[in-house]
Amino acid sequence: MKTMALVAGAQVDTNHFIDGMRIPSDSTFQDISPIDGSVIAEVARGGRHEAYLAVTAAKAAFESWRKVSPKERAAHLHRIAELVEERVEVLAAVETADNGALLRSHRRSVMPRVAHNFRFFADYLTDSLVVDDFQTRGHRNHVSYDPAGVAVLISPWNAPLMLATWKVAPALAAGNTVVLKPSEWSPLTASLLADIAAEAGLPPGVFNVVQGYGEEAGAALVADARVRRISFTGSVPTAKSIAAACAKNLTPVSFELGGKSPFIVFDDADLELALSMAVEQYDNAGQVCLSGTRLLVQSGIWEAFMERFAEAAEALRQGDPRDDETRIGPQIHPEHLERIEGFVTRAKQAGAHVVFGGEPNRELGGLYYRPTLIVGADPHSEIAQEEVFGPVLVAFKFDGEEEAVSMANDTDFGLAAMVFTSDPERAERVSAQVVAGTVWNNCFYVRDLRAPFGGSKQSGIGREGGAWSFDFFCDLKNSVFSPQGWRG
Ligand code: NAD
Repeated sequence: MKTMALVAGAQVDTNHFIDGMRIPSDSTFQDISPIDGSVIAEVARGGRHEAYLAVTAAKAAFESWRKVSPKERAAHLHRIAELVEERVEVLAAVETADNGALLRSHRRSVMPRVAHNFRFFADYLTDSLVVDDFQTRGHRNHVSYDPAGVAVLISPWNAPLMLATWKVAPALAAGNTVVLKPSEWSPLTASLLADIAAEAGLPPGVFNVVQGYGEEAGAALVADARVRRISFTGSVPTAKSIAAACAKNLTPVSFELGGKSPFIVFDDADLELALSMAVEQYDNAGQVCLSGTRLLVQSGIWEAFMERFAEAAEALRQGDPRDDETRIGPQIHPEHLERIEGFVTRAKQAGAHVVFGGEPNRELGGLYYRPTLIVGADPHSEIAQEEVFGPVLVAFKFDGEEEAVSMANDTDFGLAAMVFTSDPERAERVSAQVVAGTVWNNCFYVRDLRAPFGGSKQSGIGREGGAWSFDFFCDLKNSVFSPQGWRG
């Protein structure tokens, strides 16, 4: 049964997109909007059969796509970027209806960055595709990139199209064919991207989308031995099950996972700056992998910081993400809200104290959870160690630099760290010692696709961005040419 939905005024085809065609499934799942909990779409519920069809299509298409010149591939990516730019309003509105993140940010920054993801990797092909060439005792080494093959890309719901296209763009640029599996909690913009890919003239089978609920389609895709790359952004437990599947086929994998990042404020910091960035840790209702959810504050400013932070956080306006004045929207799903409530309840039972928040915002109905700050937790307790992925921060006091570093590193994660100090030498020292993929000093969220992005420890394997993404999607080959033995 074919499925269509009218979401935020846009028609969204919610079937799979396989081999250039819209393919339905025998059953569907319901997609609910976090804004008001209403069902906004019935979506094709794929499983092993659809995963098999999509990988078959992608494998067949790879044989010709791999031979398409880099220049032509770049032209396709630029065309996709143009279409994304033309459709920013629609993509933004559908994404907000689907995942509840702020419409304002989707319009102004997120969707333009989606287009940038394609342009960046298109330009990478034309500007900076480095192929090494050097001599060894008269023999010529020619180092080239080979596309790897079929790439399975699995994305989460918190920034659906932006995170998916960080993978789609380099995978296609490198000459691979793609099967994208979006999250069942935000499946819609991946489907709109399929329309764009078709309109941009990508040959059938080069870009495929399989929808699916829970592990159904994803597990089948990652278990397929014909797949040559798996790139996954999501949670640690899912990554572990994907890693087990990859082990069977020795499929190379890239993981962008969760975090419990430290937000360290020294008592010499510019307090206004630190406070303004500290409240940003509630962005996207705390559903940001990078969030500095452990506030580490030096004892000399602890009281002043906590007081000012409470004022600033409580002033954040919570509400409908389509409203320009809203700073904090809803949580993605009732199950997720329940999970957050569970964390806070257990923290209180374990003796921690809620300074503000600590409950859903019932006045707003639906799925809104109040920005929350917890103190007095045991640093090794669940609330201090596990990723809540909601607007829940936990604060600790430290005395000196050494203690701050040791507390910052006292977690299984290593995604990001934020350091606030007015002493540049201290920033250098702390940056060097903190285990994290990104350290922001007196700033937050500064991102450039040329820089590596990813996590250490349980926050991930590998890095995305620029050369790191491109290399992951390629097999490197060294062809050695002898000076002798040639005809003529
Ligand atoms: P999740 O692990 O529950 O799901 C992610 C995706 O995996 C979904 O598309 C899901 O359908 C699919 N999936 C589920 N089971 C699978 C299986 N067995 N095999 C293959 N695929 C399967 O994660 P989520 O709740 O969607 O996302 C939240 C998590 O993502 C958080 O931990 C967050 O920190 C992390 N995240 C990390 C980054 C980063 O860049 N490091 C960015 C955003 C989100």
